Amino acid sequence: MTNVCLCGIKVASSINDYVRLHKGKEITVLNVPHYYCENCKEYSFDTQDYVVAAVKYAHANQLTQIDLNQFKCIRQEQTKTL
Ligand SMILES: [Zn+2]
Repeated sequence: MTNVCLCGIKVASSINDYVRLHKGKEITVLNVPHYYCENCKEYSFDTQDYVVAAVKYAHANQLTQIDLNQFKCIRQEQTKTL
């Protein structure tokens, strides 16, 4: 998968772990797809909302890490029951 950066350069997607500090706790989100632009030296996510939601979910459930794919399944289950 590729994406186009704001600078106009095509960037390739890769999967990586992402560590975020949330309310003083480090939470690792596993398997986060992201783009890295060598021109801008910047990372971008096309799943930013999901990553933030996953971090909040992990914090609420006292987890220190969460798999983004797993979280997507949890979320789909939740929206089904709503
Ligand atoms: Zn760029």
